[in-house]
Amino acid sequence: MVSLLFPAMTSETPPPVPRAAPTGADVDLSSRVALVTGGGSGIGKACVVALAAAGATVHVVDRDAEAAEAVAAETGGEAHVVDLADPAAIDTLPTDADILVNNAGLQHVAPLTEFPPERFALIQQVMVTAPFLLMRRGLPHMYARGWGRLINVSSVHGLRASAYKAAYVAAKHALEGLSKVAAVEGAPHGVTSNCINPGYVRTPLVENQIRDQAAAHGISPQDVLTDVLLTRPPIKRLLEAEEVAAAALWLCADHSGYITGASLPLDGGWGAT
Ligand code: NAD
Repeated sequence: MVSLLFPAMTSETPPPVPRAAPTGADVDLSSRVALVTGGGSGIGKACVVALAAAGATVHVVDRDAEAAEAVAAETGGEAHVVDLADPAAIDTLPTDADILVNNAGLQHVAPLTEFPPERFALIQQVMVTAPFLLMRRGLPHMYARGWGRLINVSSVHGLRASAYKAAYVAAKHALEGLSKVAAVEGAPHGVTSNCINPGYVRTPLVENQIRDQAAAHGISPQDVLTDVLLTRPPIKRLLEAEEVAAAALWLCADHSGYITGASLPLDGGWGAT
């Protein structure tokens, strides 16, 4: 079967970028502890690999036990099997992280008039309330050390809207606001807070979206890729999770200490159109 995410190449389709993980060679995080939510898959997994390669000890947080344990074993980190929709479970997580990557997320695609309220609430809980609770618990440690990095994996949809994504777009816009407040409050303590705003990344989340969008629009999965997802970015390819991880690693370096309250688009030029 042909993969949904490898469209036929044309003369106008740029080749996929090399998928090598960032080595972390120019960023030394050997004295740092990181916590990555959704670290078992996709962008979160790539962030764990990149941070560990730079020397950090990484807490891999995911509700998927098998995935979290596999990534932790691969990177010398520690797995924490937690459902981030459950505030009591968040209270069991360690509070010693110098770097917090708020990454876990989920999508639901439906018109506003049919959007299930319980899915809307769940998405806010996992993608807004959990990052807030993790910041609230983790910031005292960062303030005590006089150094910290909050990396909030937002989206192009933290800056603009698409149809059928009411909960996701609302949650990502809320995360943008939360990140900015953390930047303002964290500044006197050496803590920066930034969002990364990817376009469409080649991960399981996007595979699922292609399936759902195909159903919503009544078109084939291949047409979703070419006629829906990649119509707006001038660069006609999916982003790789390793490219997002490279940006997260770059924000963790000391040379990025003056960058805070920012939103870094990795959108193939989408925002320029
Ligand atoms: P993914 O589905 O590959 O991975 C998400 C991970 O989060 C999974 O391991 C899942 O088990 C975990 N997770 C989900 N809900 C959880 C919960 N309640 N508790 C604990 N863990 C939970 O997704 P991805 O594409 O890597 O997305 C990661 C982040 O990047 C999300 O916040 C997403 O919104 C954002 N993002 C993705 C894209 C994209 O195109 N893939 C684009 C922009 C932003």
